[in-house]
Amino acid sequence: MSDYNWCHNPDCHTIETQSRVRGTGDNKVLRTVKIKANRYNGYQTNIWNYFCNNSCLFQFLNKFGQEIANTYSVKQPSETPIKVEKEQYESYRYDWNGRESRRVPYQATRTTIINKNNS
Ligand SMILES: [Zn+2]
Repeated sequence: MSDYNWCHNPDCHTIETQSRVRGTGDNKVLRTVKIKANRYNGYQTNIWNYFCNNSCLFQFLNKFGQEIANTYSVKQPSETPIKVEKEQYESYRYDWNGRESRRVPYQATRTTIINKNNS
């Protein structure tokens, strides 16, 4: 991958911001945003290396979402084998009687989902 990409929203260059203005005098234009690779220290690079911001990403998805869904179609649901563990434990809440709160213990349930593929 090169060090820069152009924002992949085909309408990026129509959005009116100072940061998109290029040129001088009567030859000014709004230009597609140039994106430096791995900005945000590599956070979500698969997306943020190709779109300048959330707005451009969603404009792109609204325009091409159907094609993307057709390309990566899902014909049936997937399943992940899990184990569900329920555990009783002592917890408490606060009851307010209008003047003061009182700490009231109760039996609570903690539910944990364990992915069998990871254990
Ligand atoms: Zn953009």
